[in-house]
Order: sequence, then structure tokens, then C-alpha cells
Amino acid sequence: METKVITLPVGYQSDGKLYKDVEIRPLTGRVLLDARSKIGGDRVDPSLFIDILKGTVVQVVDLATPIRHQDFFFVDADYIFFQLAVWEKEMSGEKMYVQRQCSKCGRMTKFEIKPEDVQIHPVEETEWGKYSDLQIPFKLRVPITTLDPDRTPYDTGKLRLLTIGDEVEKFKRYGDVPGRLWAETVRMMIAQIGPRTYGSIFADDLEALPAYEIKRIEAMYAKNLPGVAAPVELFCPICQEKSSINPAIMWVPDFLLLPSGE
Ligand SMILES: [Zn+2]
Repeated sequence: METKVITLPVGYQSDGKLYKDVEIRPLTGRVLLDARSKIGGDRVDPSLFIDILKGTVVQVVDLATPIRHQDFFFVDADYIFFQLAVWEKEMSGEKMYVQRQCSKCGRMTKFEIKPEDVQIHPVEETEWGKYSDLQIPFKLRVPITTLDPDRTPYDTGKLRLLTIGDEVEKFKRYGDVPGRLWAETVRMMIAQIGPRTYGSIFADDLEALPAYEIKRIEAMYAKNLPGVAAPVELFCPICQEKSSINPAIMWVPDFLLLPSGE
């Protein structure tokens, strides 16, 4: 089967090195059916995202050790899904449409996405790319004093990029509990706070932070994120206005799993 090599916006991290190029193959019927078998009624087993990577990533170029698919950064996995979606449409000769309710005229509409209009941000162009460990340092305005029994005040930390494995775990554990999902996301964004590192930081630890510090951390994470910037506004063919796309475009459910929109 035909394959191609694409360059990831961030790269697969292993042994302190970044591997930017991955060889991919198109989604096969088998991978599609396996992924669909994880959707039952309105329940979705999010591990299907990792199954799609396992079925489509042939190799990480130059990587000598086996790929751990759950370790791809989420933004890179999303980029792979975007590339697979575009490639599939090229092969089938179809245009890319998403179906949403238009925010201006209220009608259900097929919005066309032109792949050449979708912006890709390599990590080098973002704040994350300034640090070789891909972790953004931050300083708290109010020190956190609940990390050890001596109530030592700590005010420094680092942000980390979530992996696809993090996203899958988060939805498996807390998909039905929106409040926990939120706390879990913030916990996963933090690589280090004071003496604690990822794996030994718990959502409860963060409850002592003022709300505005949590919001600052979230904003720092979301600002200038590498990867695919899916269009948030598209042209409505019915009312000829620019409509806000809600829910946001997700390449896997919108393009890879469901019947063609044409
Ligand atoms: Zn409209």
C-alpha cells in the first residue's frame, strides 16, 4: 500500500531526542471497523484514537526502539488525523465538508473546508519551541504552600504538552464527570510545581491555588499551541455569512469514522 512521510509539528520524543518525520499509510477498512467497534450507542471508547495511530503509523523515521503510540503529543496525533483525512479525500476525489448548524441563519449546513486554508504551526514558531525539553516555565504570583508538611512556599513550575495517551486516559476515567475532567486536564498540563514532578502531582494539590492562577496556567497552555489550527469560522453557502463552527472540528469523528458527507 502507498505510504508517505509527513513532518510532525512537534515530534515524537524519545531518549531526549525529537523525531519529526513519520511514515503513514491510509486508513484501511479493517482499521475503520476496529475503531467503529468502540462506538456503541452514545458511548465512545476513546482508545480508538490510539488504535487509528497503530493502524496508520508505519514508522517513526530513524527511531530504533518500538513506537509507543500513546506517547505521541496530542497535537501531533491530531496533525496525523488531519493528514489522513485530507489524503483520503484526495484519493476519493471528494471535497471536505463538515455538517453543523449555521450560527447566523440557524440552518443545518455543509461547510466546506479547504485544506490549504488550514494553518499548521510548527513548534519552533511557538513558546514551547524555545525550550529544549518542550516545557514552559511559569511563576506563581502567590506561592503554593500545601506541597509538603512544612508548608514550604514554592512559586515555580513548568507546563508540559499533553500526549494522546493523556487525553484517552482522561476521557476513560472522567468522561462522564465534567468537573473532574477539567481538574484532570489542569493536572496533566503541569510537568513540575515546586519539588513535585508529573506523576506525583495530584488534582487535590492544585485546589489550594487561587482560581486566577489556574486560569493563567490554562491560558498559558492554550496560547500559541503548536499543531493544526482547525477553522473556527466557515462560510455558510445558504446565508453567505461567516458562521462559527460549533462543536469544533475533530478530524477523527468528522472525517475518519463516519460515512462520507457527500
Ligand atoms: Zn447560514
